Amino acid sequence: MEQVTATVKLKPGREKPVQDRHPWIFSGAIRSVAGQPAAGDLVTIRAHDGMWLATAYYNPHSQIRARILSWTEGEEVGEAWWRARLQQAIATRDALNLAPQTTAYRLVNAEADQLPGLVVDRYGDYLVLQALTAGIDRRKELLAQLLLQQVPTTHGIVERSDVDVREKEGIEQTTGMLAGPEPPQNMVVQENGLEFVVDLLQGHKTGLYLDQRENRALLGQPRFVQDKDVLNLFSYTGGFALFAASGGARSIINVDSSTQLLEEARDNMARNFPPRAADEYIAADAFRQLREYRDRSRQFDVIILDPPKFAHTQKDVNAATRGYKDLNWLAFRLLRPGGFLATFSCSGLISSDLFQKVVFSAVADAGRDAQILYHLSQGPDHPTLLTFPESAYLKGFLLRVI
Ligand code: SAH
Repeated sequence: MEQVTATVKLKPGREKPVQDRHPWIFSGAIRSVAGQPAAGDLVTIRAHDGMWLATAYYNPHSQIRARILSWTEGEEVGEAWWRARLQQAIATRDALNLAPQTTAYRLVNAEADQLPGLVVDRYGDYLVLQALTAGIDRRKELLAQLLLQQVPTTHGIVERSDVDVREKEGIEQTTGMLAGPEPPQNMVVQENGLEFVVDLLQGHKTGLYLDQRENRALLGQPRFVQDKDVLNLFSYTGGFALFAASGGARSIINVDSSTQLLEEARDNMARNFPPRAADEYIAADAFRQLREYRDRSRQFDVIILDPPKFAHTQKDVNAATRGYKDLNWLAFRLLRPGGFLATFSCSGLISSDLFQKVVFSAVADAGRDAQILYHLSQGPDHPTLLTFPESAYLKGFLLRVI
């Protein structure tokens, strides 16, 4: 049984967010620590007057000094506790009824599933685990064993802890197998009935950008793409392109900076559709490609802008908003009247309101008018915990230029 090794006392007035069930305790909220808890140790959180508040795991190296696991006094955070929390996360996904049309989805979404620091994505018979914190890193073998029990079809568990947030936790990046054999190369998963080859060991994130599933499905509806010319920027392995093709797009131009990813996009397209002569795969910087199309007065009916995260820290936010504005401004200039723009930001530091303002200033500068048809976000397998609004990071709009 795991012992609670130390007590963390908060400064006066700092107990309110804890009582409101926000899971993070920043170093600045702490008055004193009794004991010398190591990274990942369980600690008791108390108010300045000694009142019991929560059980958390601790990390002396992180600005987020403790992440709360339990708000129930006397609840032991041991193996049975972790099992129950995993069961709760799995039950949420079961309720979504994604299979068999979709076999790749997020099973555990960290804080939003009350499992701070733990991400688990399911790709068919394989699971991919990311340990974002020292507290999870220390328990990943146990978590892998519990996952094997609870998802009995699992052949193997890949670890993809190659994420830079681990630096803030004082732990190194690592990848490898936590259980079972390596996944086969050319492993195939389904997303809403379309097939994608995924590389769980080398692909971005855990293999696919699973958070965009619902938005890909929306864009793939014939009312948006049928017989249309689609420009799919930041195409990765062809996510939006496959759905545009299934909705009957006339031509799809995919732009990505990576030649290899474009090859994978081409292969994914070929798996699902007969040859499509009008499609293009262009290895280029998306900003430059947009400018080139502007200079050539090239026009499109549908443009998808799904760039990587531009703002990693608060000090990136200004440059990031300029980047988003530039992209959207260019896109608005290339759209035919009545055209659709699907535009996204996955920067958690840029709020949905701020992103809307950025897109507004882009449309104004482009001298166009556009309407928001849909407010978009991450799919329901990436839920947002009401008490932890930070778990909402992906925002987007489906716009119509009028
Ligand atoms: N829309 C995709 C995910 C996009 S991820 C999907 O649904 O699967 C972002 C992609 O942008 C990555 O593939 C990355 O290689 C590419 N990228 C990053 N910077 C770029 C740039 N400046 N120009 C073009 N592509 C870029």
